[in-house]
Order: sequence, then structure tokens, then C-alpha cells
Amino acid sequence: MKKILLPALLFWGFSFFANAQTEEFVCKSVEEIAAMEQAAHEGLLDFRSSPFTDNYDIIYQRMEWEVDPNQYYIQGAVTTYFAPTRNGFTAVNFDLSSSLQASNVLYHGTDPLNFTHSGDRLEIELPEMIEVGEMDSVTIIYSGAPPSSGFGSFATGYHNGSPALWTLSEPYGAKDWWPTKQDLVDKIDSVDIIVRTPAAYRAASNGVLVSEVLDGNEKVYHWRHRYPIPAYLVAIAVTNYAVFSEFVPVEGGEPIEVLNYVFPESLNSWQNAIHSTVESMELFNELFGLYPFADEKYGHAQFGWGGGMEHQTMSFMGGNSHMLQAHELAHQWFGDKVTCGSWSDIWLNEGFATYLEGMTYEHGLGTNTWQNWLQGKIDQVTGQPDGSVFVADTSNVSRIFSSRLSYSKGALLLHMLRWKLGDEAFFQGVRNYLEAPELAFGYARTADLQYYLEQAGGQSLTEFFDDWFYGQGYPSYHVNWWQEGNTVLVQIDQTTSHASVGFFEMPVPVKFQGPGFNTTMAFDHTYSGQIFSFEAPADVALVRFDPELWLCSRNNVVTNTEIVGLAETLKEQVKVWPNPAREQLSLQLPASLLPAQAVLFDAAGQQVLEAAIRNEQNEVDISTLPAGHYYLKLQSGKGSVAVPVVKE
Ligand SMILES: [Zn+2]
Repeated sequence: MKKILLPALLFWGFSFFANAQTEEFVCKSVEEIAAMEQAAHEGLLDFRSSPFTDNYDIIYQRMEWEVDPNQYYIQGAVTTYFAPTRNGFTAVNFDLSSSLQASNVLYHGTDPLNFTHSGDRLEIELPEMIEVGEMDSVTIIYSGAPPSSGFGSFATGYHNGSPALWTLSEPYGAKDWWPTKQDLVDKIDSVDIIVRTPAAYRAASNGVLVSEVLDGNEKVYHWRHRYPIPAYLVAIAVTNYAVFSEFVPVEGGEPIEVLNYVFPESLNSWQNAIHSTVESMELFNELFGLYPFADEKYGHAQFGWGGGMEHQTMSFMGGNSHMLQAHELAHQWFGDKVTCGSWSDIWLNEGFATYLEGMTYEHGLGTNTWQNWLQGKIDQVTGQPDGSVFVADTSNVSRIFSSRLSYSKGALLLHMLRWKLGDEAFFQGVRNYLEAPELAFGYARTADLQYYLEQAGGQSLTEFFDDWFYGQGYPSYHVNWWQEGNTVLVQIDQTTSHASVGFFEMPVPVKFQGPGFNTTMAFDHTYSGQIFSFEAPADVALVRFDPELWLCSRNNVVTNTEIVGLAETLKEQVKVWPNPAREQLSLQLPASLLPAQAVLFDAAGQQVLEAAIRNEQNEVDISTLPAGHYYLKLQSGKGSVAVPVVKE
């Protein structure tokens, strides 16, 4: 979901959202947006599954709903097919708001059953015990004015004088308007959604529109969805929609329909904007595998909430900016096909959807630039020194829905994983995650993503996730470089903004430019003060730290001096000879630098030798080292100096 506070929202209750689709309102008020989301989730934050409903598998639901957007009211008959997963199954339970009145419960569509309904729990007595794995069904008939929780789990309003009704159940609002099982472990395997409404209106929902039948003054819309779906992604929206479709070409396959239900007054605006979804879907198809619900449809239904919500196959949209279209579309892969299995892992939904917004800019879509987008996210994330992507305290509402941490820092984690693993392994790992049989059309935890990225990248990511997912803050870098002939030496120091991470191990990109060359080196930074060297064809003229913005870092400094914090007069008194050397290196230091430490690194930056220096004259045995280029770093309390050394 993406929350965008629109001016229209402030006046909700009078008339309005005529302006909801204009680009200029999008992307504002991130903090207000987060506050709205926080309020929505209050009270249910550590929820994954309820003991009340966790003893059966929900297989199928057929919802028959009657609504009129002029009335804040719903009447329904919901038939559920279920199979017990535990022995002794004598009652089947549903989450259903006690504000609604359940009038009747039928067994196999005919026989009335006894039930109790209180505390938002509907408990239905079965005529006999049902065996594990045996499928059975009940139909619940109910009606009432639903409570509205969160962002408006069930809402009515007006646009341009016309009434509208819509739902937005994420994450706990499904029970406000229909009986189901809302958890993060068991998706409903398929649904039929049948909406009866006055004939002036159209009903939008999940899946394929099977039929639209006029019955007197009413119309009955039948939507069918044959993919697993969590209760929070089931939704309806009803108003006097104008309808148009666009199609996304698929190489060697059927085009994918993008079906748009929009307010008539917004039709032109939407028709002009919809190319964003077409282009973004072509990109995502290529990067992440074909749109997960391609044989049904993708679509939009405009609604009166000031943001977007990724209802499966039919995102509900407050506006039509490129960013919002890309974000909600991205959720169809990340959030809908694979859904976060805990609120601690909300970044698996929102970090990905946010990162995919950015990737559309990377590929030249939309009006923003990739570099601007990245810099904006880095600035936001590093605007405070603390905060982890992992949600340690799931009772802390403001933390779970932090736009800075769950959305933006989550997106930057993916960006850094891509940098660390390389494009090929990163995208392969993500595709494997999306296609894994145990995750696809189900739920995932952070460890699942880590596993598939590690498999594809052939490297452990435990340290990365410890630092970046569980740890807080970000690194700041000091890159100091100097040149001896063609050898460029680079010392990289790092400090961190938060004590939870002592050091971020990362490949550090530094760009070097000079006459006839322009190269970006990725230094494998494993400790602060590490010195690297490489051969340049000419004098380095310009050095830039991370010019492509791969790292989430701030307050970085590049300096060009041979001596790090060591006065020139002292540096001149440091002698190393012979050079090249075969057996031994002689070191001479002024007494004022003692005691000191000598560390020898090979050309790859690996430390090969370390010696304590207590005297002004010293001998260091290098006879066992292979021939090659080395550099010697002398570190004292007064600073350090590095000297290139050649072993013959
Ligand atoms: Zn989102």
C-alpha cells in the first residue's frame, strides 16, 4: 500500500476527490501518511494467526453481497469450503465483527446450524465431527452497518456528486464486513465474488468479470479469482464507473489486460496516464517473471482514499501518478504473489514495492531520475542515526509503518544486496524467491529471501543481514588516496552512526579519473583503516566516492594526501629500504612516533604480516612472501603512513 495524503481527504464527508488523480499531490506528507497507517494497525500488531481459526484450511469462499453506495450497509451470504487440519473438529469458526448481525448459518446450503456470535467471533456448531482433510461447507447469512477500522475497511463517500463505496481491509479489516479467517499463514485458495447493486453502478473486484446481469433495477456482477488470496486483499468498489482497458504486450504470449474502473470525470486523465502501468509491467515481467495473474487481469479501481492499495489483480487508486501506479503494480509480485508472513517482515512487501518504483526510473520510465530517487531515499534514511529494517517490537505501531525504515531503508537494503551480489545473482535470487514452491502464492519471511539470494550469489549473507537488517544506522567513509608512480594507494576508514553495528562490511565503490582512464574500483572493505592499491595508467586527477549511489551512507569525505594525520616533517623521517627487497625490509622511524605498528598488505588488500615497532631501527623478515607489489602501513599514535613496497 502507499499512503498519500491528498487535499481531498481533508474534506472527506462533503464531496470531492476531483483532484485526486493529479500528479502534484502525490508523494507528499510521508509522515502524515505513516501516521494514518499506524492508526490503522493499532491493537493487532503481533498477529500472525489466531488460535480461534487455526484448526482448518480455508479452501474456497463464495461471497454474495448486496450493496448500494448511497447506503452505509452490507447484506451478504458467504459460503466457505474448509478442511480440518486437526482432530476433533466439531465447530468451524470465523472472524466477523459483532456489529454485523448473522441471521442464519446453513450446512450444505440448506440445514440451519446453531452458532454463537460475540466479540467479533462467530462459532458454528457442526452436526457431527469432521475428519482431518475432509472438505465441508457452511453458508453464513448476515447484514448490517460495518464498523470501519484502519484506513476505512468499509467506506462510502462522493465524487463529483456521485456516491461511491469501497473496502480496504489491510491488515485486519476483513472481518469488519465479511466472515473469514484473517491471518498470515493460510490463503483462501480461490473465490467467487458476486455483487448486487443498483443498475446505475458498476462493481469492481478481484479476478475475472464472469458476468454482468441486469435484474430489474439492479445489476449483478460476478467476479471469479482462481489464485490463493489473503483475506486482506479481497475487495470491492462500487460507483458509476467509466471503464476502459489497455493491454500489455507479452512476447510469445497473450497480451495482459489492464482493466480500469475510473470516475467518469477522471477518464481522460486516466487514459493519458495508463501508459505508466503498461510500461512498468513490461519491465517487471522482464525482471521478475511474468505478471503472476496474467491469465486473469490486472486493473485499477479509483476510490476515495488518498493513496493506493494493492488489492490482488485490482489495485484501488486515489491517484494515477507514475510512482503510485508502479508501486501498486509491483505489489502484485511482492505482497500479493508472495506475502509477508509477519509484521516484522513488512519490508518484504513495502521495501520491494518501493525499490521497484525506483527501478522504473532507472529504466527511463516516469519523470524522475534514478539518481534523484536514490539520493532522496538515502537522505531520508540517514536523516536519523538509528533504526533497523527489522521490526523488533511489533507492538510499536509507529515503528512498523515507518516510511523511513520499512519502505525506504528496506528499498536500499535490496539496492545494496544487488550491488554486493551483482545484477545476475541478485535478479536470479529474487526470481527464485518468487517462484519457490513453498513461497509462491503463499507467505515468506526474511530468512526465505536471504536463503534464495545466498543460493544464487554463492556467498553467505548472514553478516549483511546482521548489519543491515537487524542492526541500526549507517556508515560514514573517509577515503584518503595518494599515488606513487603508477601505484594508487587508497586508505578507507569507516565510522558508524549507531553502536549496534561496529563495522559495515561492504564492497566500497570509488571512481578514479585521469588522462585516458575512468574506472570505478570496488574495494572489499573488511576493517577500518584498510589500505588498497592498484595500478593506474596515468596520474589520477579526480576521485569520487560512490558516484552511482550504491551505499546507504552519509558524511563521506575524500582526501588526497599521503599521510593520514601525520605531519609532513615526521613523515619525511620515515625510511623504508631496500625497495625492491628480497629478504628483509629495514625501517627507520623517529623516536617521537614510537611505539608503532607495521602492517604489510598484498596487492589485493589482504594483510600478510604484522609487527610491533618499538625501536627507531627495525628489520622485518619478508623472505617467505611471494614476489609482487605490497604496501607497508606504519601506524602510530600520531597518525599513519603507507609506503609501496616491491618484493622480488
Ligand atoms: Zn505499498
